Amino acid sequence: MSDLSFDVVVIGGGPGGYVAAIRAAQLGMKTACVEKRGSLGGTCLNVGCIPSKALLQSSHHFEEANHHFAAHGIKLGKVELDLATMMARKQKVVLDNTKGIEFLFKKHKITYLVGAGRIAGAGKVEVAGKEGTQTITAKSIVIATGSDVTPLPGVAIDEAQIVSSTGALELPKVPKHLVVIGAGVIGLELGSVWRRLGSEVTVVEFLDRALPLHDGEISKQAQRILERQGMKFKLGTKVTAAKTDKSGVNLTLEPAKGGDKEELSADVVLVAIGRRPYIDGLGLKEAGVETDARGFVKVDAHFRTNVPGVYAIGDVIGGVMLAHKAEEEGVALAELLAGQAGHVNYDAIPGVVYTWPEVANVGKTEEQLKAEGVAYRVGKFPFTANGRARANGDIDGFVKILADAKTDKVLGCHIIGPSAGDLIAEVVLGMEFSAAAEDIARTSHAHPSLAEAVKEAALAVDGRPIHI
Ligand code: FAD
Ligand code: NAD
Repeated sequence: MSDLSFDVVVIGGGPGGYVAAIRAAQLGMKTACVEKRGSLGGTCLNVGCIPSKALLQSSHHFEEANHHFAAHGIKLGKVELDLATMMARKQKVVLDNTKGIEFLFKKHKITYLVGAGRIAGAGKVEVAGKEGTQTITAKSIVIATGSDVTPLPGVAIDEAQIVSSTGALELPKVPKHLVVIGAGVIGLELGSVWRRLGSEVTVVEFLDRALPLHDGEISKQAQRILERQGMKFKLGTKVTAAKTDKSGVNLTLEPAKGGDKEELSADVVLVAIGRRPYIDGLGLKEAGVETDARGFVKVDAHFRTNVPGVYAIGDVIGGVMLAHKAEEEGVALAELLAGQAGHVNYDAIPGVVYTWPEVANVGKTEEQLKAEGVAYRVGKFPFTANGRARANGDIDGFVKILADAKTDKVLGCHIIGPSAGDLIAEVVLGMEFSAAAEDIARTSHAHPSLAEAVKEAALAVDGRPIHI
């Protein structure tokens, strides 16, 4: 490579890093992105969002064909699983997406360097690739190195019998009994995949409810529906040890608050207790870049670390660990570097759990509003009363909107139901524009559509839903 000096060098090619690189290039900066994985897209495209959603979609079709088509008058006979084809399709989806980012890099004339990046002093990044190490220079260095699975002491991941999400995306056969540790997003999504494909699934959760950070009413309903689908839960329980042998894994469980031990055997165990920042080999200590006690890179409101010219975005700086949050930060940082007013509105970042029904949220939960002493009104509307949901045969769940009691401003929305992940978008947009519940209530929604449930929940805030 001839000229190795750049305006911006991004370390990490995930949703934070690749989006920052594209936006920086759009704004006229000479940009490079260093990625060691060998393909772009980070955790999300390679071993996260995309492959998990491919398997969720395939396993949903399998379950529909197996159990729900008959009710629509469609007889299929015996439905068989071809796991190898399902996995190959998932891999093709991943490849198409990661290659797509390479294409976007070419389109924007971004230099893609394959190798491990290390900050080697002010404005310098060392890239260790297959052909040796080269040093590149940059006016601005962006750390976007993401996160990795949090290990659980006593339960060592071998990606065969005891797996992280990465191993759970490529099991070679359907386990008879899958034990999932952690009833969070990964546990419920990947637990759903394997349950649909035939596993008995037991979810062990340390706290006393599934999806503990969600609105309480929603997590209760989610657990109820998942139990009805066959998933089992052991709440308020911790796993203290795991022994593996040829026949499987033997786990030792204890009540979280202390008490008698019990044993639980599994063919495969999925550890999904959260993720931690990934900063290995970056040379942060030598470069003097500060991290907090948990290893997150410390930044100010403009993504600046304590070292001038070094910035950080995405999972590695903490907050919600979501791809679109990382992307927003990538865009905002590139705009700030170009002298513009980049900004992320952290109050309006949606979250979606892609189980079926889906679970989606934005803004405050009822528990948070109570704790903050905010006076609020609640509007709820069940999908049983929505015509489209009935026509589709997907009537589980409800929409819940929380609005300020005085101003009617929407403070939060929580949906469990069909396509909740798409339905939440209108409320996010509303919140971005400081909408009142009445603004949503007075907006025309197509009939028959699932989105009418959102309108009705907004009407219900003022006690005047039409269809219930
Ligand atoms: P990452 O995507 O982790 O990217 C960081 C990249 O940096 C990696 O490719 C890594 O190889 C590279 N890197 C690290 N160190 C170096 C170095 N020194 N030199 C060069 N390269 C380096 N989020 C959602 O919003 N929706 C979902 O549906 C969703 N599903 C998920 C499912 C699973 C199973 C998992 C594990 C996560 C999921 N997430 C989802 C979370 C999402 O993947 C992350 O929030 C997102 O990828 C964070 O983006 P990032 O750019 O900060 O980091
Ligand atoms: P999570 O934080 O969603 O859930 C972890 C769960 O494990 C929590 O319920 C927690 O109480 C529990 N837990 C913690 N320690 C435990 C222990 N010792 N024993 C039993 N339970 C324990 O984390 P995750 O599911 O691992 O996901 C990691 C990250 O990836 C999340 O931040 C999430 O945002 C992201 N992700 C997002 C999506 C999505 O947006 N659809 C999908 C997958 C992952």
